Amino acid sequence: MAGSVHVVGAGVAGLSCAVRLARAGRLVRVYEAAGQAGGRCRSFHDAALDRLIDNGNHMVLSGNRAALAYLDEIGAADSLAGPPRAEFPFLDLESGLAWTLRPGAGSIPWWIISSRRRVPDSRAGDYLRGLRLAFAGAGATVADCLDAGRPLYRRFWEPLAVAVLNALADEGAATLLWPVLRETFGRGEAACRPRIAAAGLSRSFVDPALSLLGVLGCPVRFNARVRAMTLAGDRVTGLDIGGEAIAVEASDAVVLAVPPAAAGGLIPGLETPRESRAIVNGHFRLEREWPGVSIVGLVGGVSQWLFRRADIASVTVSAAAALIDKSADVIAARLWPEVARALELGDAPLPPYRIVKEKRATFAQVPAEVARRPGTRTAWHNLFLAGDWTGTGLPATIEGAVRSGHAAAAVLSTGANT
Ligand SMILES: Cc1cc2nc3c(=O)[nH]c(=O)nc-3n(C[C@H](O)[C@H](O)[C@H](O)COP(=O)(O)OP(=O)(O)OC[C@H]3O[C@@H](n4cnc5c(N)ncnc54)[C@H](O)[C@@H]3O)c2cc1C
Repeated sequence: MAGSVHVVGAGVAGLSCAVRLARAGRLVRVYEAAGQAGGRCRSFHDAALDRLIDNGNHMVLSGNRAALAYLDEIGAADSLAGPPRAEFPFLDLESGLAWTLRPGAGSIPWWIISSRRRVPDSRAGDYLRGLRLAFAGAGATVADCLDAGRPLYRRFWEPLAVAVLNALADEGAATLLWPVLRETFGRGEAACRPRIAAAGLSRSFVDPALSLLGVLGCPVRFNARVRAMTLAGDRVTGLDIGGEAIAVEASDAVVLAVPPAAAGGLIPGLETPRESRAIVNGHFRLEREWPGVSIVGLVGGVSQWLFRRADIASVTVSAAAALIDKSADVIAARLWPEVARALELGDAPLPPYRIVKEKRATFAQVPAEVARRPGTRTAWHNLFLAGDWTGTGLPATIEGAVRSGHAAAAVLSTGANT
């Protein structure tokens, strides 16, 4: 008989693995170091704003099939919001130029033939040059494949690379950008509709999973940091949770769904990515509520993506090395004028705000670190890895995290990788 599965870490990777296995009838036990689940994808009540906010803006695209399958499994498929068709409004903060990118239906981008549909000052060939990403070698950066001198680079390729890879285009791994393009823009409009969690990340990606695990009789323990594992011969035989010993029986398995540094500390000799990159988010409480949600790409300033939900405007700065060590006051003062400009609020004074700094938002998605991503299996036959930093072939995103969780569940259930 199949034994219990001990899932360590209740981020999206751990939760998606636990849910898959629990729905298949396995007894799953989840151990989470923090007092809440969600890891890098979570909501919290912020006292300064008196609102529920997310640690950072998270966008998924309608072509993110694993993320959407996960939401479906936990009964949260309708918890995302976004425009009915794929459209990405942009504002150039330097020139004041505004445009909206509307990819066409179908996988051949006929729309790039029309100058009215293209990003200002771009030519059809600038888009086709993106096909070079498909043939990028393991050591290539995004900038190596594209023409940095063209306006499309600054107005599309670079913002896309920074958002997807959390790395500047001249260091981000080209091999990770291509699969995203292939699975979204490469499949046409219906696969690249932007989606955000309408009522916050936890309500979409976390709370429904915890409820389902509860219904299925699978306990989730909080404030339960796994401090050590007992490795004997070719298997894990025990977990140590701050002095409490948990036996891992012969038929049990362990899925380690923790960040790379934590996994490296628990498994001797495990090769993992070592460097990380930061993301900074500024959340501002507006004077009034606005209907619906809106997502705007910003170029030519510090801010990169602006999300607005009800009376909260949240702005993302990825690859935020230049900002991460500045004080919250300084960051807010830099971001707010850009937010006010994008929302056409004139010179409205700085409203109540919260700056959230995620120093280790993702592993550094640069060629040398991508080469250090391990697979699902380990040298111990009942020990498996999950997490956005494992070798999914995708960037460190919700989609990648879910796929890693599903891959671990598949190996455990059938012995096969998905
Ligand atoms: C600010 C920000 C913006 C982002 N924007 C996007 C976006 O727009 N779109 C997108 O798709 N992705 C985005 N991401 C990436 C996305 O959040 C991550 O890829 C995803 O959440 C990673 O999930 P995970 O389960 O792999 O890791 P984590 O979320 O890090 O989960 C690991 C869990 O393990 C726990 N843990 C650690 N050590 C132990 C231990 N010893 N014992 C027990 N538990 C332990 C941690 O507390 C944590 O809960 C963003 C990330 C950040 C930070």
